Amino acid sequence: MSKKISNKIILASGNAGKVREINKLLSDHGIEVVPQTEYDVPEALEDGLTFVENALKKARHAAKLTGLPAIADDSGIEVDALDKRPGIYSARYSGEGATDAKNNIKMLSELKDVSEEKRTARYWCVMVYLENENDPTPIITQGTLEGKILTAPQGDGGFGYDPIFWLAEQNCSAAELSLQEKNKISHRAIALNALANALKEKLK
Ligand code: IMP
Repeated sequence: MSKKISNKIILASGNAGKVREINKLLSDHGIEVVPQTEYDVPEALEDGLTFVENALKKARHAAKLTGLPAIADDSGIEVDALDKRPGIYSARYSGEGATDAKNNIKMLSELKDVSEEKRTARYWCVMVYLENENDPTPIITQGTLEGKILTAPQGDGGFGYDPIFWLAEQNCSAAELSLQEKNKISHRAIALNALANALKEKLK
């Protein structure tokens, strides 16, 4: 017989797109999540130095304020020619008032003298599950997606760095993929599937 840890797992994100994507994937595994905004949980302070620390902080914050198990993710892009920047600072790369467009412009400018073969980059996603705020054995999974930074934006789907993120195998930018195609290969999907499998084992 399978043990049920909790009916509800809080998702430490208020981002509607992410909530939909994560809910879709986990519900395929019979796991339901509720966004933290439904419990009026404010955003946690993301002052860690790694994706793991930031995801743990977000999950612990949501578990503490709701008394429920929580899932959180943290993601970003690392560019080899930029010594793996912007990494955990991907959303804020272009500084105060950063937008996806400004971040892309800054990245293209920083890479303007970098040759094609040196423009390698990857998206990272770390997912964390905490049974409660003091859980000493969190589940931590990660996923990556390899690509290259283009010299100009291409395509208008996706978000973030997708218009300048070239996928060799698919022969297009990440912004030219349908959401369904992106969800098959993305760093988030890889981390989430691993999390769902680990959770199913834990809930057995
Ligand atoms: P966060 O995980 O919400 O903190 O997002 C970090 C940042 O990484 C986003 O704001 C984007 O700039 C970038 N990022 C993460 N995943 C993706 C992706 O799938 N496509 C494009 N950009 C991404």
